[in-house]
Amino acid sequence: KAPVLSVEHLCKTYPVGGGLFKPPRPLRAVDDVCLTVQRGETLGIVGESGSGKTTLSWMMLGLLRPTSGEMTVEGRPIASFDRLEIARKIQPIFQDPYSSLNPRQTIGEIVGAPLVVHRVGDAAQRARLVREIMDKVGLPARFAHAYPSQMSGGQRQRVAIARALVLKPEIVVCDEPTSALDVSVQAQILNLLKDLRQELGLTYVFVSHDLGVVEYISDRVAVMYMGRVVETGRAARLMSAPRHPYTQALMGSILTPDPALGLPELHLGRGFPDPLNAPAGCRFHPRCPEAADICRTTAPPQRHDEQGMVECHLRGGAPAQVISWKTGT
Ligand code: SF4
Repeated sequence: KAPVLSVEHLCKTYPVGGGLFKPPRPLRAVDDVCLTVQRGETLGIVGESGSGKTTLSWMMLGLLRPTSGEMTVEGRPIASFDRLEIARKIQPIFQDPYSSLNPRQTIGEIVGAPLVVHRVGDAAQRARLVREIMDKVGLPARFAHAYPSQMSGGQRQRVAIARALVLKPEIVVCDEPTSALDVSVQAQILNLLKDLRQELGLTYVFVSHDLGVVEYISDRVAVMYMGRVVETGRAARLMSAPRHPYTQALMGSILTPDPALGLPELHLGRGFPDPLNAPAGCRFHPRCPEAADICRTTAPPQRHDEQGMVECHLRGGAPAQVISWKTGT
């Protein structure tokens, strides 16, 4: 089956620092990332802050231009879409519903704004579409005349979801959409996103630092570390049997509600390395409890098998040239 979204060898480098007598230094935020997303599935992208997941999602939204590599939507290069076309295919939901909504507009105006920009229907048709999508996300019709300041955090995120869906996009890129919310509200928003995916046949790319949240909503997961995807696989397998030492460390940092199990074991060792001085060999080696000599000098291969991909000298199945993970999980 052809993927609805495909990312091939995508790289993004930022020039950092520099001055009159000093050239800027390159920071490789996304480094040779290959991913595919099938229609109707949710691909979770997880990693610490600085892992490159937000830069990757912004490139998927067409908000950032890649330094190199290719991205296609329904088999068509993303560069061949104009901004309005791509906005009808891919819509974002951002982390902070407090700052992403214009405080001077009513909820009806905010949700209907994309319809105005894209010149969809007349005023009466737009009002009907706004009412319909507000109903689908659980916002009463009377809220159309309210302002964001009169709403709770969860209600504001429902507004952001309605605004993203009013144009009926194929793909929704969710960038930490629940991390600014209370835990109980998080669960409601995650369940709403799940229901909407089912009802509207949406495809999600779901970016989060929270492996538990990603596991709950995703079919497949890609784990990022220092700009690279280091492990992929089906969500249930990745959570029950993570293979990359970094994924295992992330798993070890998840809090459990059972006090008898005590505090989580943290295996991440020293802090996140300076991205301007990325370690040689495997970038994870200064923090990896299993690092061998080869890890300090040689970049690990991406090994692919029926369980997914793992980028490690010591873990995983066959090398990339034998089985492509795109044909497997
Ligand atoms: Fe650890 Fe080596 Fe694997 Fe990197 S390649 S994750 S350092 S074992």
